[in-house]
Amino acid sequence: TDIKELLLSRIRDVADYPEPGVMFKDITPLLADPAAFTALTDALAEIAANTGATKVVGLEARGFILGAPVAVRAGLGFVPVRKAGKLPGATLGQTYDLEYGSAEIEVHAEDLSAEDRILIIDDVLATGGTAEASIQLMRRAGAEVAGLAVLMELGFLGGRARLEPSLTGAPLEAL
Ligand code: IMP
Repeated sequence: TDIKELLLSRIRDVADYPEPGVMFKDITPLLADPAAFTALTDALAEIAANTGATKVVGLEARGFILGAPVAVRAGLGFVPVRKAGKLPGATLGQTYDLEYGSAEIEVHAEDLSAEDRILIIDDVLATGGTAEASIQLMRRAGAEVAGLAVLMELGFLGGRARLEPSLTGAPLEAL
């Protein structure tokens, strides 16, 4: 489709970043192009409306950049999920395994309620570890997951299959 081609044309491949052998998908050219950034925001806001989301949750850091304008466009609140130690208030945390070691994400639990249906937004779905942890975090905060939307899914890493059990039927949309 047209939007897919527009978005793909604004994503830059950076070889050997952040380490040798990795081809990093860099979205900064897309952010710098108002037509592409607007098209992306509109497409994600449509997903937010279709899923009946009540809030947008963005994953640090590029999920903030993409998620905040979507929340405004869709008329929804925005809640950041941050790396551990960055949020000042009472947090709920979720640890998850990395290839080497582990990581932890946190949210201000008081910004979520049992009435909330959450659309989680990030730029890239790779192994699915970050998304899986964020889904678990939403559930533990008492909120329902309405869906997960990303700009790009790296299909060869198998994130979609990994997420299927935790999504329990909620859609995973990759533009
Ligand atoms: P995962 O947990 O392995 O799915 O990795 C996803 C997280 O790493 C997301 O928060 C992405 O922003 C980031 N990430 C992984 N690969 C890339 C990439 O090629 N470009 C941009 N971000 C990436």
